[in-house]
Amino acid sequence: MPTYTDMTRCDGCGECVDICPSDIMHIDPVNRRSYNIEPNFCWECYACVKACPQQAIDVRGYADFVPLGHKVRVLRKEKKGLVFWKVTFRDGRVKEFTFPIRTTPWGSIKSPSAYEAPDPSELSSPMLAHEPAALKVETLPTLPPSN
Ligand code: SF4
Ligand code: SF4
Repeated sequence: MPTYTDMTRCDGCGECVDICPSDIMHIDPVNRRSYNIEPNFCWECYACVKACPQQAIDVRGYADFVPLGHKVRVLRKEKKGLVFWKVTFRDGRVKEFTFPIRTTPWGSIKSPSAYEAPDPSELSSPMLAHEPAALKVETLPTLPPSN
């Protein structure tokens, strides 16, 4: 679901431009408002949605996800630790979904080089590196070994 800017909310601060990994959020030189120059190349990472201080960036819902939808808005309530997805349908119905923000403190994630190299015998394991400890669980279900 690529993004688009609500021009009435955007103040042209450029934070979405700085953070977009696809380099497709640009500031219109005439209107001084941001716009997604190529929605087909949107990674749909929503970094711009989260970074926008004006909550000016909405999302175009795909037809299979919101068949009657015409607007998908993300609202952050940082103090409450919540994110709301608000879907407005063309027939006027509104549905809201609420999720907790899973914030990780800036700089707290270890870089891959900070981990010990896995033992070569672990290469045949169905686990990814440092699982299950990295997921903070004791065990994970695994498939029985194939013959
Ligand atoms: S969702 Fe990601 S890729 Fe798409 S415009 Fe926003 S920051 Fe760029
Ligand atoms: S971050 Fe928000 S307010 Fe700033 S330019 Fe982008 S859309 Fe506009």
